[in-house]
Amino acid sequence: MKKCKECGKDKNVEDFYKAYSSKDFYQSVCKECKAMIYAKMNNDEREKLDKYKVEYNKNYYEANKEKLSKIRKAKYIQRKKAFENISKENISKEK
Ligand SMILES: [Zn+2]
Repeated sequence: MKKCKECGKDKNVEDFYKAYSSKDFYQSVCKECKAMIYAKMNNDEREKLDKYKVEYNKNYYEANKEKLSKIRKAKYIQRKKAFENISKENISKEK
């Protein structure tokens, strides 16, 4: 669960968009509020925001490439280990 900064409701992380720049990899505003904020904007503002987002993500990715790939690798190893444990359990059960 994660609290939305805009509406203040506790929501599932699936209700938030992903954000590489955020500590927990999710944006602080939920999808519903994002859509509302976006709907209130005029075209100029939307264009600016889109440009900003693209630039920001690109810059962030470039600056943190190493860190991000380490995180991805760690997650992969974690998953692999979890999978190995499951198969080990299954094998020992069969015996
Ligand atoms: Zn919200």
